[in-house]
Amino acid sequence: MSDRRTTPAIADDSRFAVSLSGCQVDSETRCAHWDGTRDVLAIKFQCCKCFFPCFQCHETLTEHESTQWLSTEFSKEAILCGHCRTQFSISEYIETSEQCPSCSHSFNLGCQNHWDHYFEIGSY
Ligand SMILES: [Zn+2]
Ligand SMILES: [Zn+2]
Ligand SMILES: [Zn+2]
Repeated sequence: MSDRRTTPAIADDSRFAVSLSGCQVDSETRCAHWDGTRDVLAIKFQCCKCFFPCFQCHETLTEHESTQWLSTEFSKEAILCGHCRTQFSISEYIETSEQCPSCSHSFNLGCQNHWDHYFEIGSY
């Protein structure tokens, strides 16, 4: 719970090597909205190319509508594990959505309910 920071978009949180904004973000990319042990995932948004812990952070901190990554763009490294800080591709995430392909930290499977905020999954 320490070192929570709110970083307005589009700005860099100096703790991360990538552009990342969010509400009350901890050092493993949990946020004010998703704060469980498994909520250690940040997603780069197609619209502004900035990482956010969740779509609610994006909605709160930006003034534009988010857009989805198209299925043809799923090879882009748009996923960040907040635990080991590895970036990996959307298709890797969709395939191994239970855990980080690098450090095996568990991810929140409930995120799948929100994939349509981030990814064009209809045709997947
Ligand atoms: Zn955006
Ligand atoms: Zn959030
Ligand atoms: Zn990891």
